[in-house]
Amino acid sequence: MACQGRSIRATNAAIMTSAIYPGSFDPVTFGHLDVISRAAHLFDRVVVAVAVSESKSPLFMLEDRIAMLSESLEGMPSVEVIPMEGLLVDLARSHGIFTVIRGLRAVSDFEFEFQMALMNRKLEPRLETVFLTPKEDYTYLSSRIVKEVARLGGDITPFVPAAAASRICEMLRRAV
Ligand code: ADP
Repeated sequence: MACQGRSIRATNAAIMTSAIYPGSFDPVTFGHLDVISRAAHLFDRVVVAVAVSESKSPLFMLEDRIAMLSESLEGMPSVEVIPMEGLLVDLARSHGIFTVIRGLRAVSDFEFEFQMALMNRKLEPRLETVFLTPKEDYTYLSSRIVKEVARLGGDITPFVPAAAASRICEMLRRAV
């Protein structure tokens, strides 16, 4: 019995686990970073996929959103940031990664996330969605509320990484 257990562990050790974390990240917040760091503990490789999200009319261009994330994730070599155009299932197939990470802050997130998870699995039966919950301090945090606070002149440094905070302020200065 003991020998069998060892061989199962040895086989598993050779399997590299990967997951995709998709979103708009307009902009990245400490809530997103919390989810990414939890995912990085669970998976060998985490691919953060930044959606073009044209229909959401993002405040930041795709390149800026990617840059803010990449700067914030320096020092996490198992995490990479890529752009995502089109369907998540197509990205999953092209990368051969069928685990998707999403964050669940509160019950209010549940209905949308549940619908998305089931639709994605309908489109690609191999796809599984794993939900991670952030530290309590970040459950109220969203990109939308951060942009609102910044627009009204509030201090956003407790909510977003430094690289994002300076870009958001710069963006709003230009918009005035
Ligand atoms: P969307 O994918 O809807 O454009 P976001 O880019 O804001 O949304 O977020 C990507 C994912 O991260 C979603 O699953 C969202 O629920 C989750 N998320 C956003 N903010 C937080 C937070 N503060 N804590 C945990 N998860 C979060």
